[in-house]
Amino acid sequence: MSAISFFDQVNRNFDRAASLMSYDSGLLHQIKVCNSVYYTTFPLRRDDGSIETIEAWRAEHSQHKLPTKGGIRYSMAVNEDEVKALSALMTYKCAIVDVPFGGAKGGIKISRPRYSQNELERLTRRYTFELVRKNFIGPGVDVPAPDYGSGAAEMAWIADTYAAITPSQIDSLACVTGKPIGQGGVRGRTEATGRGVFFGIRQLCDYPEDMKKLGLETGIKGKRVIVQGLGNVGYHAAKFIQEGGGIIIGLSEYEGGVYDKNGIDVEDLVKHRKETGSILHYKNAQNFERGNDVLEQECDILVPAALENQITMENAPRIKAKIIAEAANGPVTSDASEYFTNSGKKMVIPDAYLNAGGVVVSYFEWLKNLSHIRFGRMEKRFEEGAFTRLLAAVENASNTKFSDLEIKELTHGADEEDLVNSGLEETMIEAYNQIREVRARHNNNIDLRTASFISAIDKIASAYLSLGVFP
Ligand code: NAD
Repeated sequence: MSAISFFDQVNRNFDRAASLMSYDSGLLHQIKVCNSVYYTTFPLRRDDGSIETIEAWRAEHSQHKLPTKGGIRYSMAVNEDEVKALSALMTYKCAIVDVPFGGAKGGIKISRPRYSQNELERLTRRYTFELVRKNFIGPGVDVPAPDYGSGAAEMAWIADTYAAITPSQIDSLACVTGKPIGQGGVRGRTEATGRGVFFGIRQLCDYPEDMKKLGLETGIKGKRVIVQGLGNVGYHAAKFIQEGGGIIIGLSEYEGGVYDKNGIDVEDLVKHRKETGSILHYKNAQNFERGNDVLEQECDILVPAALENQITMENAPRIKAKIIAEAANGPVTSDASEYFTNSGKKMVIPDAYLNAGGVVVSYFEWLKNLSHIRFGRMEKRFEEGAFTRLLAAVENASNTKFSDLEIKELTHGADEEDLVNSGLEETMIEAYNQIREVRARHNNNIDLRTASFISAIDKIASAYLSLGVFP
């Protein structure tokens, strides 16, 4: 465990970037501090009739753009420092990928497996009520999303509770994202963070000069990858990396880890876990009783996708991966990250950029809810008709005939999922190139994290300056 707090670690990264910028120190301080934190306790009646006190938080780090946005964690590790740190990361993340929100984060301090579905529903609805009461939720105020330990079901309860207590609000569905499709969710949201992680890693691997410095071949194809955590982010990241040509050779979960240098089929491992209750004892893979030991095995890319503070100065010297891709929030402590950068032989892809896919697609979901129409509904058939006429003209002019399959593929009009995935891909590529440009402007003497913070601070500062709040 690192000695300095999670929020201090985020601020350390901020300070490093800020020291290279010439903004007024008061403005930089305003950007860095957490604007509001709401701490609440409320009673939960358990299924056995007993009453338990639940602790919960919501932090809104920056209201320079509204609404603020950020997930809700369901975990025993939740505390004020953590929600503040994560809300700050959300502010920088949104700025890095040009999503027009401020940062927020929430947390409910529970050990999720101890509660029944009914209890989870009751406490989620009560948490929503507490947020409404203090104006910490709303389509133009603060919009939660899933995070560690929460998913679409919780988001559906939040949307339903919010709608019930704010009658006649036509935009109430936009009060939360990550909802099921039937409740205003957007296609592609569940897998968005993992998919974005894949796009980010692929983008880094596509630059020959960066790969050469690390002693690696260009491209994600054939790269050997170890993933920590097989939850929403880890599972999807592993799946898309595998589909993109990477080889998953190691995976860890809280019960331990497995490693097979010949590759592990992600779907098959998930099936094995469902059948046996554990990822251990999978085919020919080597077992590790302590999951974190797998992270230290030979590989090209390490993807920590579980929790913060997993790679510290204690284990960093034993990490063999050349690329450490922060899919989780804060998985590498700031001193360990510095250690990797200073080695000159490793690159860290920072969390604030790499796991932004979730908030990018949440932004799309919010837009969908506000516009009250599914993406692609107006143009899909029109596009298909236009493509069909165009192909017929090409066939006539060139005296060729396309096969039925070619016609089907070439005349496909974009549906919601196509548009969401394409918007996500564009955003991740564009943001990476912006970060790379910032790094180049600093003669490549800074790491990607510092470059991404500089990119974020610049955008947030210009939002404040355009308000005329600061000279
Ligand atoms: P999740 O609850 O779906 O999955 C987390 C997984 O990690 C679980 O399967 C858990 O068993 C496993 N895990 C816990 N401790 C572990 C350990 N020591 N070793 C190996 N595995 C361990 O959560 P998630 O939504 O996938 O979030 C994971 C991380 O990604 C968090 O840091 C979260 O803040 C971040 N994140 C999530 C999203 C999102 O859209 N879900 C977006 C951005 C960032």
